[in-house]
Amino acid sequence: MSDLRVGLGVDAHVLAEGIPLVLGGIEIPYPRGLVGHSDGDVIAHALVDALLAGVDAGDIGTLFPSDDPALEGISSLEMLQKAYAVVTERGYELANASCVLIGEEPRIGERRDEMARALAGALGVDADRLSLAATTTDRLGFTGRGEGLAAQVVALLRRAPSA
Ligand code: MG
Repeated sequence: MSDLRVGLGVDAHVLAEGIPLVLGGIEIPYPRGLVGHSDGDVIAHALVDALLAGVDAGDIGTLFPSDDPALEGISSLEMLQKAYAVVTERGYELANASCVLIGEEPRIGERRDEMARALAGALGVDADRLSLAATTTDRLGFTGRGEGLAAQVVALLRRAPSA
């Protein structure tokens, strides 16, 4: 495999009342949360997929089958940790990842650094390797109607110095 590898991850989850909203590894005060087998963190899940894609190691469903009862309610940060272990086992490390949340609300501007620290903490890398951004879709589609949130992440991996 080449020294530089890029991976793309995409995820979306339904928003529903009565569950906490976990986004980018942190809890955000909001009346609704993301429904999922785990905590539904779309940013973390898209990052997992981007990391796995970067080393051609399948996707989040390969590593965490959604019919596995042992994974019920698993923290997405734990999923990230496991996905990044696959990356490092294959001799790569994260150069940087660019994460984009898609939805009208909540606005995450003030919590972006905190998210970067939480995600980076799970990976064991510096927070400056992660950037967080958000966009709306001008009220178009399921994110525009507030039915759910989506995220896209692109991750650049490089061969680790020791590999
Ligand atoms: Mg997901």
